[in-house]
Amino acid sequence: MTTSVDVVVIGGGQSGLAAGYHLRRLGLDFAILDAEAGAGGAWQHAWESLHLFSPAAYSSLPGRPMPVQAGEVYPDASHVIGYLTAYEQRYELPIHRPVRVQGVHRDGQLLRAETDSGTWRTRAVISATGTWWRPFLPAVPGRAAFRGRQLHTVEYRSPRDFAGQRVVVVGGGNSGAQIAADLAYTSDLTWVTQRPARFLADDIDGRALFDAATARRRALDAGTTDTGGVASLGDIVAVPPVREARDAGLLKASPMFTRLTTNSVEWSDGTSTAADSVIWCTGFRPALSHLAPLGLRGPRGHIPTTGTRAVGEPRLHLLGYGDWTGPASATLIGVGRPARDAARDIAELLDVPTRGSGRAART
Ligand code: FAD
Repeated sequence: MTTSVDVVVIGGGQSGLAAGYHLRRLGLDFAILDAEAGAGGAWQHAWESLHLFSPAAYSSLPGRPMPVQAGEVYPDASHVIGYLTAYEQRYELPIHRPVRVQGVHRDGQLLRAETDSGTWRTRAVISATGTWWRPFLPAVPGRAAFRGRQLHTVEYRSPRDFAGQRVVVVGGGNSGAQIAADLAYTSDLTWVTQRPARFLADDIDGRALFDAATARRRALDAGTTDTGGVASLGDIVAVPPVREARDAGLLKASPMFTRLTTNSVEWSDGTSTAADSVIWCTGFRPALSHLAPLGLRGPRGHIPTTGTRAVGEPRLHLLGYGDWTGPASATLIGVGRPARDAARDIAELLDVPTRGSGRAART
């Protein structure tokens, strides 16, 4: 079956929904194709105790504020899923699930998205597939030899699964710190970080991170001094569970080990600690394999962009993958602006008369 629309959005997580909101406002003809069976993107797979690092008011997509979650300053993942579900219903976004895009191809004047359930011909594509689906594990000697359990952040669910075990958590970012805090009370925990753990001040949360990312982008755009952005503040938001475990003396980071043996991790000075499980909280890469047929891949696996538009293919926009596709665009509050810019850019490119002013106005 072949279907034609002006714009195909690939991915129906928060980024795809923000794109849909703006495409709808401009009156464009579009479809959102999402590989998941249900709403919520990566939030559906979060571990049980995960909470946002910003209050609800700072975690909203365009048009519709996230409601406060009763009894919680920082909403949990189920609340985010509920919000995203209500959001797509409220704006009647044309989402097709589950539909996985296998490849995007040039097809004369059009682009063609081949999926596991048919072909979509389109004049423009917004790729909003996130990073959760491409976990990154570093190449550490002995990884293949280790006989215990190894898993990545994406597979972690609950401390119940590791009760009484000797667990090594690798990673000095928010995921590493939060999972280490989760395990600290019921497992024999070793937490290792590549550089000394850098906690943000206790009164700083995601609001300040968003402001820092925006200030950095403005400074770079204006050609003034790089403010250092989010990284200048620290690596770990001291959300309440992290703060509690740290203050109880349970979150002490050791340096990164140099190799794994069959049943332990070992440091360069020869010391070692036995381990039943190693949890790699070592980050993600953008999930872009569906764009491989376009041949646009640049350094570090990224596709070079101006704003959200691919430098080598003006009909393609990338949304929500990180600062390289808009400041703080990989956050709920940050994706709205680049989504708006992408939708406007596409309306102009396609020369589609838009609702309201007659053309997509650049205001
Ligand atoms: P996703 O949520 O990953 O959605 C992408 C969608 O695309 C998925 O439904 C996926 O199935 C689909 N897809 C993928 N490939 C294809 C394909 N080929 N064809 C069709 N569909 C496809 N942000 C905040 O604002 N506040 C926070 O507190 C916060 N905490 C975070 C904590 C963790 C541990 C992590 C990892 C991230 C956190 N973020 C937070 C960042 C961000 O909000 C999430 O990563 C968010 O899920 C990104 O949304 P997205 O729509 O870009 O991607």
